[in-house]
Amino acid sequence: MSRIAVVGTGYVGLTTGACLSSLGHKVICADIDERKVAQLKDGKIPIVEDGLEEIVVQGIASGCLDFVVGAAAAASSCEFAFLCVPTPEGEDGQADLTYVERAAGEIASVLPRDAVVINKSTVPVGSTRVVERVLRRPDVSVVSNPEFLREGTAVHDFLHPDRVVVGADNLEAAQRVGRLYESLGAPILVTDAASAETIKYAANAFLATKISFVNAIAAICEGVGADVRDVMRGIGYDRRIGNEFLRPGPGWGGSCFPKDTLALLKIAERADYRFDLLQGVVDVNLQQFDRMASRISSAAGPGGTVAVWGLTFKALTDDLRDSPSLEIVDRLLAKGHRIRAYDPTVRERLTSYPSVQICDSEIEACHGSDALAVLTEWENFRWVDPAEIVGLVSSRHVVDTRNLLDRSAWRNAGFGYQGVGR
Ligand code: NAD
Repeated sequence: MSRIAVVGTGYVGLTTGACLSSLGHKVICADIDERKVAQLKDGKIPIVEDGLEEIVVQGIASGCLDFVVGAAAAASSCEFAFLCVPTPEGEDGQADLTYVERAAGEIASVLPRDAVVINKSTVPVGSTRVVERVLRRPDVSVVSNPEFLREGTAVHDFLHPDRVVVGADNLEAAQRVGRLYESLGAPILVTDAASAETIKYAANAFLATKISFVNAIAAICEGVGADVRDVMRGIGYDRRIGNEFLRPGPGWGGSCFPKDTLALLKIAERADYRFDLLQGVVDVNLQQFDRMASRISSAAGPGGTVAVWGLTFKALTDDLRDSPSLEIVDRLLAKGHRIRAYDPTVRERLTSYPSVQICDSEIEACHGSDALAVLTEWENFRWVDPAEIVGLVSSRHVVDTRNLLDRSAWRNAGFGYQGVGR
């Protein structure tokens, strides 16, 4: 059992802290948000994440998990301190390290001798050194341990990782961090710090590339009368390609891919490499948002009202950061459309979208609308009976950017149905 501090209790920090406590470690999680800490101490979690509340409650009950305000309070008696703070996109696309540097500064003087500080935030190559410089503690090692969890399945992903990556120039410190994960039975890859930092960006850039590629093939399928689902099934059987992450959609987004692809473009620039391939991946994605928005706009007619199903960047999360749905909503608003939206996790009007009407159900969103757009793949949308809403949508047209609905059922109910790539 190790004594662990986790700085930042967002999607990554809270999952990391709670899961490590479930493995028997003694964990103190810190945040600067006092309200959040008070809520967490009561066993209530402020985000939607399957299974997380249960392990938080168990951790608190077993005495293995606690929450405090301020990083210093968590780190003063730890052997390991995980930094899980935001690394947003900076002004010029580079990752902004302000939160990481601030968190490291807060714990520098209180860390016990020989502690290990672990960068779990996604940070550019060289950030291990940045943290070392802020800490000014030669006895403390800094290790990079990027996180690969997916929101919506974060607990499962943390406890059943495909691999654990630990990078440091001090091999012994990297091995100490690797041992924290030993009981998970996953391959533990120990690398130098720069390689570990690069792995995270390379993984996200590769996944974004896959989706942009599928979306580009989907556009071709539409032009030649092929069905992208069959095409992807056909290539996915090839083990060199694999069948994961081959679904077309409205474009990729979320709190990581957009900022991480831009950050990698900046890293490449500084490494004196023109990463045209990744720039193409980003451009195809913007094209996809435009294509989907135009398609929905045409279905709704000039100034028409669009019923939008789904605002989060994917199903099973409440995270709206850089959501493709909102990218499309932005474009529709710019074209003069009105929006009536329903999302199972969004109950209040969004401050940045005051004109978007938030509705209480899929059906309510369709009242007085001119077209329907499915933007997030929430499973409940699949089960709405099209016969119930066909009279509510004036154009009787649905644009299903997730290929979620049963096309035949919707066509049989009298809807014009447009999916992606078929
Ligand atoms: P988040 O915004 O959900 O959470 C960050 C938390 O850190 C917030 O609660 C904030 O109040 C807190 N914080 C900021 N400064 C602090 C300080 N000095 N002391 C204590 N708490 C502080 O962020 P996230 O989505 O968990 O992402 C964190 C990092 O992990 C980012 O670098 C991100 O790129 C990376 N990452 C995220 C995911 C994901 O799916 N969200 C996956 C892998 C990696």
